[in-house]
Amino acid sequence: MEQTLSIIKPDAVAKNVVGKILDRFESAGLRIAATKKIKLSREDAEAFYAVHAQRPFFKDLVDFMISGPVVVTVLEGKDAMAKNRDLMGATNPKEAAPGTIRADFAESIDANAVHGSDSLENAANEISFFFSQREIC
Ligand code: GDP
Repeated sequence: MEQTLSIIKPDAVAKNVVGKILDRFESAGLRIAATKKIKLSREDAEAFYAVHAQRPFFKDLVDFMISGPVVVTVLEGKDAMAKNRDLMGATNPKEAAPGTIRADFAESIDANAVHGSDSLENAANEISFFFSQREIC
């Protein structure tokens, strides 16, 4: 059993497709172990994406992630990390496979609907960034 972190980004929250995206996870056999809607501060977003701090798109990424509320979710299940990455589709929605979340709900590489942890180590760190142990059931 694995756990991974998903973020439904401000574009998808604004489009009112949170339920549709959570349904993709549940329909694929993943369980929601924790979830909450929050508004990130600039400090939160900069810390969360610190690995990208030197990339040219860092400021755009941070500005976008604080432009509205997000829904952060701990997903749990067999191969949860890889399964979530498959459900998300490619970073650039124009390259995302048909039927993936990004193909169906995202507009651009900036506003690409969802984040998902890309390794088990990052998943553990990202989950503890957002949730205390007693919030995860
Ligand atoms: P992910 O794991 O598929 O989300 O992709 P990455 O970890 O490589 O990048 C993190 C996030 O940065 C992506 O989801 C995009 O929102 C954003 N991003 C990545 N590459 C670019 C880019 O070339 N331009 C812009 N504007 N944003 C990017």
